[in-house]
Amino acid sequence: MSQTTPSRAPALEDRYGAHNYAPLPVVLTRGEGVHLWDEQGRRYLDMMSAYSAVSFGHSHPELVAALTQQAQRLAIASRAFHTDRLGPFLEKLCRMTGLDRALPMNTGAEAVETAIKAARKWGYKVKGVPEGQAQIIVPAGNFAGRTTTIVGFSSEAQYRDGFGPFAPGFVHVPYGDIAALERAITPDTVAFFLEPIQGEAGIVVPPEGYLRAARELCTRHHVLLICDEVQTGLGRTGRLLACQHEGVTPDGITLGKALGGGLLPVSAFVAREDVMAVFTPGDHGSTFGGNPLAAAVGLAALELLERERLAEGADELGRHLRQRLFALKHPAVTEVRGKGLLVGVEIDPGFASAREVCMRLMHEGVLSKDTHDTVVRLAPPLVVTRAQLDEAVDALQRVLRSLEQPSRLAA
Ligand SMILES: *Cc1c(COP(=O)(O)O)cnc(C)c1O
Repeated sequence: MSQTTPSRAPALEDRYGAHNYAPLPVVLTRGEGVHLWDEQGRRYLDMMSAYSAVSFGHSHPELVAALTQQAQRLAIASRAFHTDRLGPFLEKLCRMTGLDRALPMNTGAEAVETAIKAARKWGYKVKGVPEGQAQIIVPAGNFAGRTTTIVGFSSEAQYRDGFGPFAPGFVHVPYGDIAALERAITPDTVAFFLEPIQGEAGIVVPPEGYLRAARELCTRHHVLLICDEVQTGLGRTGRLLACQHEGVTPDGITLGKALGGGLLPVSAFVAREDVMAVFTPGDHGSTFGGNPLAAAVGLAALELLERERLAEGADELGRHLRQRLFALKHPAVTEVRGKGLLVGVEIDPGFASAREVCMRLMHEGVLSKDTHDTVVRLAPPLVVTRAQLDEAVDALQRVLRSLEQPSRLAA
């Protein structure tokens, strides 16, 4: 039996892994609640939650129990057969979101691919768009995963570079611009697909009323409004779904990340009856999608979210976090954006890169990740306490003070 000493692990990763990530130099070995531990036993406050996948904290006992009990009973069966776990999970998903039917997948990207297929087929079969002509409108700055179709409609050069040719049928509009959306709609438009708050773009919150206006436009033009709630959903922004901040019910949503309770990948496309009705047996599927293990954990995660009122908690905690961040009044912080516990802190590059800030935060015992060079993402597990948020902000304050004054200000 070979045993790998932990300290060799990053070198092995570097030697044998593809270099498609640039992780911070910390080697994690354990997680519990809002905390993570490295090889040396140093404890960190997790202000990243694996991009929202760990909204319930690391190894939540109730979710681990659901996982282990189900794993001992029946883990994978495929959709060739019914299982006793899938129905209750789908019912809970529909009841909580107010939509009619759910199609389970594994990763967020697969849920998005499912939404794209549903929208196109709905366009041909229900709306009457000529075959092969369906158009889906997407905002610039979108992030929806890494499949070839999805990076094909990204506006980020690096996500696309070298990976074409790409699928046609996507039309770009600026994010937050309702007039541009109206101009982009044609008789062949089947869907407007967007994040209610853009996560990977740097926690970009659109102008108040944008989603509501998009809802009205889509209804008027017989276009599906599909919200990608993979990151913003399940309480992250202080509502069950981020689109609920504007009282909007989309025709379909994609969920993922937190849906797996921080234990395994679980995603879903959840939609209105007439949208989901386009799928017939054999149209679409996934070997692992909706497996009993995923369904048991997903159901337990949804029940936990509801019972512990984590969305309401995130709303309050987020207000506190943003208030404390605003109060820093440090010249290196040019903007604080976000809703609930999805917060972006914009750092003036004249002081430091966001990665440098994250490196220094790491030395202060706080783990986070930069996005788009200038934004520090603060998205802790929803089970975080006010005192723990204060700890994170205090650490950020120490980091900001440690940054050298930029020369242009020193002059
Ligand atoms: C992370 C993310 C995805 C993709 O999820 P994966 O599980 O990484 O495939 C899709 N949409 C949004 C908004 C995301 O943040």
